Amino acid sequence: MFEKILIANRGEIALRVIRACKEMGISTVAIHSTADSDAMHVRLADESVCVGPPAAAQSYLNIPSIIAACEITGAEAIHPGYGFLSENAKFADIVSEHGLTFIGPRPEHIRMMGDKITAKQTVKALGIPTVPGSDGEVSDADAARMAKEIGYPVLIKATAGGGGRGMKVAQNAGELSFALSQARTEAKAAFGNDTVYMEKYLQRPRHIEIQVLADAHGKVVHLGERDCSLQRRHQKVWEEAGSPALNAQERDEIGGICTRALEKLGYLGAGTIEFLYEDGRFYFIEMNTRLQVEHPVSEAITGIDIVREQIRIAWGAPMGFSQKDIVFEGHAIECRINAENPFTFRPSPGTITQFHTPGGLGVRFDSAIYSGYKIPPYYDSLAGKLIVHAKNRNECLLRLRRALDELVVGGIETTIPLFQKLVREPDIINGDYSIHWLEKYLASLGY
Ligand code: ADP
Repeated sequence: MFEKILIANRGEIALRVIRACKEMGISTVAIHSTADSDAMHVRLADESVCVGPPAAAQSYLNIPSIIAACEITGAEAIHPGYGFLSENAKFADIVSEHGLTFIGPRPEHIRMMGDKITAKQTVKALGIPTVPGSDGEVSDADAARMAKEIGYPVLIKATAGGGGRGMKVAQNAGELSFALSQARTEAKAAFGNDTVYMEKYLQRPRHIEIQVLADAHGKVVHLGERDCSLQRRHQKVWEEAGSPALNAQERDEIGGICTRALEKLGYLGAGTIEFLYEDGRFYFIEMNTRLQVEHPVSEAITGIDIVREQIRIAWGAPMGFSQKDIVFEGHAIECRINAENPFTFRPSPGTITQFHTPGGLGVRFDSAIYSGYKIPPYYDSLAGKLIVHAKNRNECLLRLRRALDELVVGGIETTIPLFQKLVREPDIINGDYSIHWLEKYLASLGY
């Protein structure tokens, strides 16, 4: 097994990886910017290296400095976490060119799934159902004819898209050219690429994603689904495993489709295949070739440590279990505790004056904050993740209610008050919500 791993990330996910390494007897190297010298991931790692100034482009995305940090400390492998360099195929190439191991999928698969048109065409050929649409690039000249064929409303999406950017709906022919130009402008600004494609805009879907793991010996398993329908501006805020909308048979079916497709592809490592789900049918939207923020809910219901498996797989070890050994037990919910206003989601960086985490059976709190910690304004606003697990969804909601009431994060605004309301909402209690539910709810509150 690796003796030393460098974690090319910060915040709660850096801690998550450090924890897995510690339990595996692997030494850890943290990297940090000058703004993060007193961050928790730096304190908990065995060694740390400052890789640059606060701006991520000069620190957490600074490839030469990160490679140099490995060389100085003798780290043999890099875990990229999520965000930053985790889906950067060029980085994965550079890592292996330096004789180091990238803990993640093969660069060709990162590249393939990073381009949404290529991804969609690839998975379609592998038997995964996709959203009806252009299946390829859309030119301004072809757009009207294509939209008519697909049927309005249609969604214009950036092929380089991510984080919900470069995505615009056209309800009818009159809105099409404005939606196209807006999506292109946004995509060009965010990704330097204004290529767009077109999909049927589904009216009331749920977002359901399948977690997969694949080892270097051809074995692929799935860890069931996560329902991430509660979103604001296409950003997930609350995630569940399993989905209140799926039964065990549907889970086995879609899980089987995903594992067979990735077997054919020769995929390696952890990944998530994301779908929209409407009227009993799945429609692929994208694949994430990395660990995801919401991975703990799958860990809760399967008992499998996904980060540990990523590290073992990167080393070349065979997975110690098969699909038939994976048992789904109970229900889990994650709430993203962001340093933001709970209703407008305006960032609220600052100093944490009070901090108390909930405990008890089935409660997990993953974060990198502490009392007296100053949240820097340079990075994303995720301050922690509250994950609760119980025998069934009802008990899980009751446990979540109690855990949220125990949680104290003082000195900054957080999303805790929003979750305290959501957990008491009849639609949420009944599991009756689509990807539009949260925005409508916020609008009904006057936001
Ligand atoms: P990104 O990579 O920017 O997050 P995704 O393709 O994953 O983009 O889509 C993000 C979210 O946008 C989905 O979870 C869903 O809420 C919405 N969305 C994407 N495609 C469609 C579609 N065809 N119809 C309706 N909503 C969609």
